Amino acid sequence: MSAQTINELKKIISEDQIVTDENLLYDASADRYKKYAKAKNVLDVPAPIAIVYPYSTEEVKSLLTFCNENDINVIPRSGKTATEGGLENWKDTTIVVDGSKMDKVLKIDTYNMQATVQSGVKLQTLEDELRKLGYTTGHSPQSKPVAQMGGLVATRSIGQFSTLYGAIEDMVVGLECVFPEGGISKIKNVPRRSGGPDIRHIAIGNEGSLCYITEVTVKIFKFYPENNTFHGYLVEDMESGLEMLREVIINGFRPSVARLYSEEDARQHFSHFYKNKCVLIFMAEGPEGIVKATNEAINQAVEKFHSHVVEKVDPELIETWFNNLNWEQSRIDEEIKDMVDSNSHDGFTTEVSADWENIIKIYNNVMYRIKNEFERVDDLTMLGGHSSHSYLNGTNMYFVYNYKIDCAPEDEMLIYHHPIHEIIIEETLKLGGSMCHHHGIGKYRSEWTKEEHGSAYYMLEKLKEAFDPNGIMNHGTIFPKEVEIKKYIRP
Ligand SMILES: Cc1cc2nc3c(=O)[nH]c(=O)nc-3n(C[C@H](O)[C@H](O)[C@H](O)COP(=O)(O)OP(=O)(O)OC[C@H]3O[C@@H](n4cnc5c(N)ncnc54)[C@H](O)[C@@H]3O)c2cc1C
Repeated sequence: MSAQTINELKKIISEDQIVTDENLLYDASADRYKKYAKAKNVLDVPAPIAIVYPYSTEEVKSLLTFCNENDINVIPRSGKTATEGGLENWKDTTIVVDGSKMDKVLKIDTYNMQATVQSGVKLQTLEDELRKLGYTTGHSPQSKPVAQMGGLVATRSIGQFSTLYGAIEDMVVGLECVFPEGGISKIKNVPRRSGGPDIRHIAIGNEGSLCYITEVTVKIFKFYPENNTFHGYLVEDMESGLEMLREVIINGFRPSVARLYSEEDARQHFSHFYKNKCVLIFMAEGPEGIVKATNEAINQAVEKFHSHVVEKVDPELIETWFNNLNWEQSRIDEEIKDMVDSNSHDGFTTEVSADWENIIKIYNNVMYRIKNEFERVDDLTMLGGHSSHSYLNGTNMYFVYNYKIDCAPEDEMLIYHHPIHEIIIEETLKLGGSMCHHHGIGKYRSEWTKEEHGSAYYMLEKLKEAFDPNGIMNHGTIFPKEVEIKKYIRP
């Protein structure tokens, strides 16, 4: 079957666009979710039969049509930084369609304040081009040096400066995508319209389960780095830190960064100054007058809760920390090597969101349950979290848990990650929050997709039926597959 399929593929694209090297296929069979098992060469999923590298939208269309007609599963791939199993393969006959050769910046339009790129352009590449002209995308996930625009849109990603610039869905103006039956849809670039439902959102966040994104237009912003200011405080507890975050936001101010670290999480990031306290951070940026007003609002909010503030942190320490936050590919590779060398997982995460009223209850319930219910609690080397993206009506919580791995590598996720992940998701859903703030559902939160959406799951399901009637797009991602959930998630 696979030899015949590859021969057919050669009629669609040239031979040098098709990769069948065994090591690369193994690498393509899973993402960071199972990085430890993958590095230990014990993955339990099938490898794809090929990775293909299209150069154009027309080639993506030919590939998708071919796969649709021949019942071949397609995994769209961009920068390979997925964390939730979106790139993991659950089908015997799968082709990975890697967009990284579609890497042209097509237009930077500083008059209309938007830039158009092919989906394989790295965010860092676009950002560097814009900075030369005095502009920014405003998008800065920690994976910025590696992640590509297609993947960033497909996962509904968010960056460190989200409180000011928004998340990717606030930035995308228009896009082009290809559906498995061969339709190419180009959504035009307009400032706003009331032309029916906002169809951008069928592609944004689809995680490769409905369509392949080939081109993206995003807003651009004037960049004023000379006005940046940084603020840091040690605060008594998460409750009061969250109150301070809320105060700034609900009063109408938009610092680019508004973050709060629990003391355990602060230990990882700010060991040289955190003094066993929570750390509250703000950054203000933009035109001078806005920065000045934002600085005043931050000072007032902190003053209002002054009895919970232990001390102010030198702003330079915060600035230095920010300057080293992003991950190059070499740092990502090093992390995996360290993990294998030490048999310990340094930083698994589950990120959720909820309204202001419930986020602290979720945080406290999760901490309590993990400490009291998790069987391997003694193997935990860290348990904490931070809020890193705030909104008028609530915020996110990025739970972080590190542990020593005292089991066979292939059992790690089941023994360690899944029970903790499950507690976080249960507590979040119970209090009306969302189980995934920005990493997407991938395959490893799909067991809760129906619960996440409730009665609105009907709408999601209809999209799958309409746009991918043969079910060839990224099998198991977002949309739950009971057989595979039993096989790979809860054996
Ligand atoms: C060190 C590190 C830091 C991170 N920090 C952040 C952060 O700050 N904020 C954040 O939001 N995320 C973060 N992430 C998660 C990850 O970077 C994001 O989810 C990112 O958007 C993935 O982009 P990618 O190009 O790597 O996509 P990939 O990993 O290649 O793919 C991700 C998903 O999108 C699908 N997909 C990829 N390309 C396309 C396409 N062209 N069309 C349709 N579907 C497609 C894939 O099938 C997969 O399901 C981080 C990850 C790492 C490793």
